Amino acid sequence: MKKIRHKISITGIVQGVGFRPFIYRTAIKHNITGFVKNTKEGVLVEAEGENVLSFIKHIISEPPSISEIIKYKTEEIQIKNSKSFDILESENGDISDVLISPDITICNNCRAELIDPENRRYLYPFINCTDCGPRFTIIKSLPYDRPYTCMNVFAMCDTCKNEYTDPENRRYHAQPISCYNCGPELFFYDNNMNKIEGDHIKNAADKIRDGSIISIKGIGGYHLSCRADDDNIVKRLRDIKKRINKPFALMAPLKLIEEHCHISQEEIKALKSAHSPIILLKKKKKTGLSEMVAPGMNYLGFMIPYTPIHVLLFRFINFPLIMTSANQSEEPIIFKDEFSKLSRLSDYILTNNRSILSFCDDSVGKIFNKNIYLFRRSRGYIPYPIKLNVKTEKNILGLGGMQKTTFSMLNRDRVFLSQYIGWTDNPATITREKEAINHYMNIFSIKPDIVVIDKHPNYPNRIIAEDFKNVEIFELQHHRAHIISLLAEKSETDTVIGVAMDGTGYGDDGQIWGGEFFTGDFKNLVRIAHLKYTFLPTGDRAIKEAWRYSISILHEIFGASDKTQSFAEMFGNPGKIISQIVNNKQNGVLTSSCGRLFDTVTSLLEISHVNTYTGELPSLLQSYAENFIWKNNIVKNTYNYKIFKEKEMYILDMLPAIADVIEDSSSLEKRAYVFHRTLSESITEMCCIIREESSINKTYLSGGVFQNTLLLYLVKELLEKENFEVYFHSLIPANDGGISLGQVYAIAGKFIK
Ligand code: ZN
Ligand code: ZN
Ligand code: FE
Repeated sequence: MKKIRHKISITGIVQGVGFRPFIYRTAIKHNITGFVKNTKEGVLVEAEGENVLSFIKHIISEPPSISEIIKYKTEEIQIKNSKSFDILESENGDISDVLISPDITICNNCRAELIDPENRRYLYPFINCTDCGPRFTIIKSLPYDRPYTCMNVFAMCDTCKNEYTDPENRRYHAQPISCYNCGPELFFYDNNMNKIEGDHIKNAADKIRDGSIISIKGIGGYHLSCRADDDNIVKRLRDIKKRINKPFALMAPLKLIEEHCHISQEEIKALKSAHSPIILLKKKKKTGLSEMVAPGMNYLGFMIPYTPIHVLLFRFINFPLIMTSANQSEEPIIFKDEFSKLSRLSDYILTNNRSILSFCDDSVGKIFNKNIYLFRRSRGYIPYPIKLNVKTEKNILGLGGMQKTTFSMLNRDRVFLSQYIGWTDNPATITREKEAINHYMNIFSIKPDIVVIDKHPNYPNRIIAEDFKNVEIFELQHHRAHIISLLAEKSETDTVIGVAMDGTGYGDDGQIWGGEFFTGDFKNLVRIAHLKYTFLPTGDRAIKEAWRYSISILHEIFGASDKTQSFAEMFGNPGKIISQIVNNKQNGVLTSSCGRLFDTVTSLLEISHVNTYTGELPSLLQSYAENFIWKNNIVKNTYNYKIFKEKEMYILDMLPAIADVIEDSSSLEKRAYVFHRTLSESITEMCCIIREESSINKTYLSGGVFQNTLLLYLVKELLEKENFEVYFHSLIPANDGGISLGQVYAIAGKFIK
């Protein structure tokens, strides 16, 4: 064979993910000389030898698990007669160009070594390599090098150092490298902080088996863990966490998960991916798990053991474990060794002396349309940037909304979307967000010129924005941010129809919006249509206590009739008071929220009346509807609705549908399903009307209500039947976790370079 030389440029997720050592090892295997280096665009390789083509084939077909090759280009060039293959230093020292890898699930090689009695890291709970282990959560500052991580307190032993400096070793430059001789260790305490000696993992497993609740230090914080098959234990955890009904996440190896849930190939792939998110899986009829894990839900959220500690734990345990963030109600996850707090939440603490420098909750998603559909983008995904197709000269910080808050930092054309921060309605979470913003500013060397906040006058991101001096502040309406977050995800610059079906967002007119249709592009969206305004008595309280809103809806449909009265009477004196408020239309706001529609249908069907967590009633209604359609029932009928024009604005009136839901004598399941169908049809009809006028054919679906994958499915099918191009989220949450991305993309439109 003839010696040739190729120049290969590769872009995608190829930095900080062990890509260069991988290229090096592959080159040695194929007798290739030349070099590899990081560039601004990605990775550049020059490869010389007789096997260049098979070398390229190998790189493209089997890249490291966490990497993702988006594009590559090869070109034959002059032979240079290189003698060796080298890893060269980066092209320029601009630190802001170096990307930080997300935390990576334990890889197959490390899994094998972990249980190999011959290996020097046999059962070592902190085993990792260039392909796996903590990254983002252990970084203090850049460059990503051992002294700038929390591993700086552990001096490498000679054997580890040899592995670390040998380019042919699979631990070459693995910053968290360690072993029994030189690395972090485990500790096990009871909740009086008495040290318990012995095999710590086995001890923890024994205590869990006996019914205890254990705090376990993980990658981005502590988990609370316990059995999932005993009502009393799950109830105790709910009491401790002050969490009434919100589903708990579970952890188990794949084999165990299959006993409890139906799993598709795509779901297996997502569970086993290097991101290892929690995936919502359709639960089997009989699971053997406590119904209190996820009351009323058709899905269980499972992840697989993703750290060596988890893997070792499941050597002693053969049932699924609850693995929920260690915190109380909506407080942020505990990630420092706050033992006094942890001992109040649990009976025992399995901890270690490797610090967590950044908190990071588990990511959550579902498979929709054979693709990942994230509800929470956090551990395993962040801080990898989202690339925009516009460049700006300004650094822009978006502070998100109030629920499921994230922030976003835009620099040039890259958006660093933060980890999940949570509900910023409490001081602890606000402090958390401020700390996280400072950390991002530090590690990415970005100082914002512009801060974008939600239009809501009472959201705490106004307070956070005040901390920044000499910045320009912009406001962006909540539902525009939802749609624009999807435009950012899809790199869309065209004109579109945006459909935002959502819970709550402050509107331009001071009312509570949430069922909105827009036309325009990422720089400017014009409201064209919305769900009909209805009266939401006592504002925010009626969002939680949906029956309050139901009284208002009944009043709207039937007036002060017997129907309205007898419903109100179910709630005693408070019901009477709400009736009066509704009669006088005092003390409340108007809303076009789609989330509230779901609330009130669930309440009027008397399935449940109170949201103990955001989205509980809508999720229950979805369960009922799914239970109907999964039994292969077919329905063709829909309920009534009205579309009309009022002051240049199209109005979608769903009150006739709610009246039909009430009057329909079919099963609850069927009524829940027909409601879903009707809403999907009405959304589609509205899009058709908007297309008539605007000739726009692209529809973009966002907002928290589209977490309902049954609704999303129905809307998508109907729109496609009408020949629309339909776009929906994948890696960016449809809920408020995406708001900050929309904020920075929208304002970037004003400062395009
Ligand atoms: Zn590994
Ligand atoms: Zn060592
Ligand atoms: Fe929202």
